[in-house]
Parts: sequence; structure tokens; C-alpha cells
Amino acid sequence: MSEIRVRFAPSPTGYLHVGGARTALFNYLFAKKNGGKFLLRIEDTDRTRYHEGALDEIFTSLRWMGLDWDEGPEVGGDCGPYFQSERLELYKKYADELVEKGLAYHCFCSSERLEQLRATQESSENPQATGYDRHCRGLSADEVKAKLAAGEPSVIRLKIPDSQTITFDDVIRGKISFESDTLDDFVLLKTDGFPTYHLANVIDDHFMRVSHVLRGDEWITSAPKHVLLYRAFGWETPIWAHLPVILSETGGKLSKRKGAASVMDYYREGVLPHALFNFLALLGWSPGDDKEIMTLEEMIELFTLDRIGAKPSVFDSKKLEWMNGHYITEASAETLLPEVKPALVELCYINADYDDSKLIPVIEMMKGRSKKVTEIAGTLNYFFVKPSEFDEGSMKKLAKQDNLVEVLTDIANGIESLTDFSAESVDALFHSYMETKGLGFGKVGMPIRVAITGVGGGPSMHDVIAFIGKEESVARLRAFIEMK
Ligand code: GLU
Repeated sequence: MSEIRVRFAPSPTGYLHVGGARTALFNYLFAKKNGGKFLLRIEDTDRTRYHEGALDEIFTSLRWMGLDWDEGPEVGGDCGPYFQSERLELYKKYADELVEKGLAYHCFCSSERLEQLRATQESSENPQATGYDRHCRGLSADEVKAKLAAGEPSVIRLKIPDSQTITFDDVIRGKISFESDTLDDFVLLKTDGFPTYHLANVIDDHFMRVSHVLRGDEWITSAPKHVLLYRAFGWETPIWAHLPVILSETGGKLSKRKGAASVMDYYREGVLPHALFNFLALLGWSPGDDKEIMTLEEMIELFTLDRIGAKPSVFDSKKLEWMNGHYITEASAETLLPEVKPALVELCYINADYDDSKLIPVIEMMKGRSKKVTEIAGTLNYFFVKPSEFDEGSMKKLAKQDNLVEVLTDIANGIESLTDFSAESVDALFHSYMETKGLGFGKVGMPIRVAITGVGGGPSMHDVIAFIGKEESVARLRAFIEMK
């Protein structure tokens, strides 16, 4: 088989949303699986929808997820340029070629005429009669020449053949057919010399030697137009795979409100890149069993197009949250540090020059308790500041304990008199105290935890106390006793 070459072809009209990221990701996995190339092409020919800053956001988002491209902007390659706005001459050359072959034609209809046409069609009783009415197909060669010489603005349109069934194979959906009569003579080249999506997309896929087109299924209706263009040029078509739609949890289309946030929004919310990667990979694709948590290498190994279903997949944000929690627990504290430390500084728990090696064991202790990276910093509060509030439920339980003040006083004195203060010596102190007094952990460990941290759960208290330090721990115990 010839080389596998796939591309992600975003238009820089806004942020990269999760649907686009899923398309990029499937292309990436497919390329890596087959030793092929993953290209990035920027489809920036619609100047009216161009969005300043979108490009940077697309690059950052893809790189953050690890979707590095083998050819494309900032990377290069032998099929460049990879911005369509820099390939205008090529599009013009091939549009002109189709005109010469008699397969396309210049159209001089003004926008007023086209608007009028649309208005008449819309009010007509026959709903099929929509689209361009082929008015300029009838112009003679001389008429066209004269109009062009006079500088009349024109577009180039493709001649759609009459009464043909256009059929193509889709890897995911099988044979798909469209009737040519449902298509109108669509524009290839606009008056400003820019190509339409269809023309540029087909020319680029051809010259960039794209072997497989994996894209969202909203492009299925464009595919017959592309088939006709490939035929007109006499080029071989790529293999198409239109990816199933992603629905929101309530069943409708994904919208910004319902999960379709940008990739960078998920980053800002504290989602780990591999969690998002793994989650998106399972939207439409399945590795063949119930396996969900996978490394990148496993996904590459298992990825095949025949395991992509045609059924819509649902964006289940609870599942993403669960996966993210899983990957946070798995992540090393060092990986989380760059996200957690600035947040701690922002919360005024530490200064920016705080020693990383002290922070890492605390992150290690606490990371398994958060579903989002952004939440970790908040859960670390009591390591740095004394609690200002105490968990209500735990306080109610403690209110029933008669010997509370006695236990806390004994422990405060015990910690104070430790000569070799460490997590181990504190742990030993707790155990010998419980033994001599004949008390269970609930009557000793629990009050100490609430007094020192303000909450009813968390990592081992001897580790917490060792981190907070002897003086501060004793001070918190005494302050709590005072409060009673
Ligand atoms: N520029 C199109 C988009 O924004 C690309 C569609 C395609 O992959 O053919 O999604």
C-alpha cells in the first residue's frame, strides 16, 4: 500500500473545540498506527470568518494534547505552503483548467440577481427548485471573453451533470449515493480570487498526497461535490471516513453550553491532556473490549478504522471527570507541580520561591483526592494555613466525646516533648497513647485531625503533623482546646 497520509484541516474561525480535537486525534492515531504522516493544513480562505488569535489557539491546543504534526505550519514539509491563503495561484490555475476543458464556467451574476433568485425560489411552491439557475452556462465564448475584457467581476462554477447518481464508499458507512440533480452549479473560485472550501480542499488533498480523509460527518454532503471535482480533474479520490457525530448528554448537538468547550477551557479547568486524549479517543472508536484506560502506545496499537462506529457518541462529562481523577492519581507529583504551585501562590498559601522538594510530598499525599488539577491546590489549605472553619458533621460527633479536652491536651503535650520529631515518632506516640488509655483511633485520631485540619478526612495525621511542624501542630491543638 502506498504511504498513509492524513490531515487535520481546521479553519481559523475560532477556538479548537473538542469535536475538532477528536477529528485531529483520530487522524493522528491512524497515521501513527500505520507509520504514516499526520499533516496540519490551515483552511483560511474564508476571510470574512477569519478570527485573530484562532491560529495560535489551534497550535497550542494541538500541542498541549500531544497531537504534533509531521508536516504543516511551523514544521514545514515538501507539500507546503500549508496555509491555503498562500496557495491562491494553484487554485486559480486549476479552476481555469476546468473552464478550458468545458467542465466549469464563468458566472457574472450580481449578488442582487442571486438574492432575487433565492427569494423567488423560496416563495415558490416547488421546493426542489433551489440553487443557482445556471443562467451563465448559456453565455457564448465570445460573450464571456468580452465581459472578462471589460473587467466584469465573475466567479467560476462547476457544471454539475444532469441526472447522475454519484456514489462513493465511506469506510464507516459503506456506499453512499447522492443524485446530481440535488446539487447546483456550485462556486469554485470567488470574485476576490479566493477558492471556495470545496475547490481548495480537493486540490490540496490531491497535491498533499492525502490517502485518507477522516473528518466529521457534517462534511458528508460535501463529499459528492468533491467526487465530481476529482472526476473533472481526472484524479484518484482519497479514502473517506466520516466520523460519527458527538451528541451532548441531553441528546442534542454539542454546543458551547453543553460540553463543546474549547480544548483550552478544559486545560484551564484542570483536565490533564492525556485524560482528554483518552476520553475523546473513545467517542466513536472502541478498542474492541471494555478497555477504557489506555496509554498512548496502546491506543496507537489498537486503532483501526473498522472499530469506528457510525452511531452518534455522547459526550459524557462525568466520565471525563472520572478519567481525569484516575490520571491525576496516576500522575507523578512532579508532573502536577507546574500547575499546582502557581495556584498555591495565588491563594497566598506559599511564596513563589517555596521549595519544590517540600511541596512534592504534599501533592503526592493529596492528588488522589481531586478530580481536577485545579482543585488540588484548594485541598492543600491546611498544610499552610490554620483552619478557620471546622467541618460541621465532625464537630457534632466530637461534641459527644467526654474526654475530648483530655485527649487533645495529652497529645499536644506528647508532641511537644518529642525529642526526635518525625512522622514515625508521632505515629508511635499515637499508638502508645491509644494502648495505655485503651482508646480506639476514632477517639484519638479523629479529634486530632479535626483540630489540626478542620476536616474529617485526609492523609495520615502523622504525615500531616510532620509537614506542618511541631510548634504549629501543638499551637493548633491548643487553640482548638481553648475554643471548647
Ligand atoms: N476546513 C474544514 C473544517 O473546518 C475541513 C473539512 C475537511 O476536513 O474536509 O472542518
